[in-house]
Amino acid sequence: MDFIDLAAQQKLILGQLEGNIKNVLNHGQYVMGPEIKVLEKKLASYVGVKHAIGCASGTDALLMALMAYGIGPGDAVFTTPFTFIATAEVIALLGATPVFVDIDPDTFNISPVKLEQAITALKTQNSSLYPLPVDQKEALVPKGIIPVDLFGLPADYDRIGAIAKEHNLFIIEDAAQSFGGDYYGKKACALGNIACTSFFPAKPLGCYGDGGMCFTGDDGLANVMESIRIHGKGDDKYDNIRIGINGRLDTLQAAILLAKFDIFPDEIEKRREAACQYNDLIEAVNGSLVTPKTPEGFGSAWAQYSLLAQDEKTRNTLMSNLKKQGIPTAIYYPKPLHMQTAFAGFGYCKGAFPVCEDCADRIFSLPMHPYLSLEVQQTIARGLVMPVE
Ligand SMILES: *Cc1c(COP(=O)(O)O)cnc(C)c1O
Repeated sequence: MDFIDLAAQQKLILGQLEGNIKNVLNHGQYVMGPEIKVLEKKLASYVGVKHAIGCASGTDALLMALMAYGIGPGDAVFTTPFTFIATAEVIALLGATPVFVDIDPDTFNISPVKLEQAITALKTQNSSLYPLPVDQKEALVPKGIIPVDLFGLPADYDRIGAIAKEHNLFIIEDAAQSFGGDYYGKKACALGNIACTSFFPAKPLGCYGDGGMCFTGDDGLANVMESIRIHGKGDDKYDNIRIGINGRLDTLQAAILLAKFDIFPDEIEKRREAACQYNDLIEAVNGSLVTPKTPEGFGSAWAQYSLLAQDEKTRNTLMSNLKKQGIPTAIYYPKPLHMQTAFAGFGYCKGAFPVCEDCADRIFSLPMHPYLSLEVQQTIARGLVMPVE
């Protein structure tokens, strides 16, 4: 059994994939070929924002977004510790400081209540109000928030937006997992000042390598990110006007994404059906497992289907029982970012973000993709019957 079945998808669109790849081989414009603009236009229109800027990965998308805001040393960017390393890595890479904020236990996304506490604590330099990074020589300047739409479920942007407005902070939506999700009628990737998604093969819309995209409705930010993507280019080919990166999306990956996008809306529907089916099946066999809830008005892209077990021991037993039956599982994420060695310099302690730490001990994810059959889901659910001591 596959954790993600990319082969089933490939079978459905093989003709289109081969045709699109062949077109690129024929025209030979491997870098910034015509497929890039076609894809950007299509995805911008799907998401409902003016600008889409293809780039080399989800990580580069986040980096380009922060660079567009000129983020650097002395700046604080608020984010969640319950995410993939890239979210906070790019903040630190630019010399800025990630200020972690605990999550909501029902959605696994950044808690708006705690976000407000963290902003107040930072502004008053009072870490008794909320855990702050230590050893900052000067007071940090709060600049922005990177909420993450974890597992495909958008964060609570109405509440986060109100806080951002009050404190004059930007919002960069980390939509690496949520392309295809929605929030009160708006699509994921349209929920911040800039949104960043990833086309890593395992994401809801994945290519056959690395890829990503930035989205924004702001002409100025779009212009700057297009420049940053190509070494800070200006209008004059030989005068680069800012420091940028080599952050382009490959033409071949854009061609592959165009073939995959044709069936993407249907795949999102299938993921949603599979998630509902999982909830029903699992609640029937094991009432002690917490199944994922989708709040009213939210729609998940179901990048992952994640459950909470009673405790770490039960989680590990369930996972090893499934493994014995050939059913793959994964833990996203076993180690919160504030506990990672790379961020040790920020001085966060164990216990700083108790909800996130508790989830990391109890969470695990089941196979999730659009081509899960009812029979396979039934087999997986049967493997989740509460183990007897
Ligand atoms: C995958 C992911 C990224 C990084 O995307 P890449 O394309 O792998 O660079 C960033 N944030 C989150 C939440 C992710 O899941």
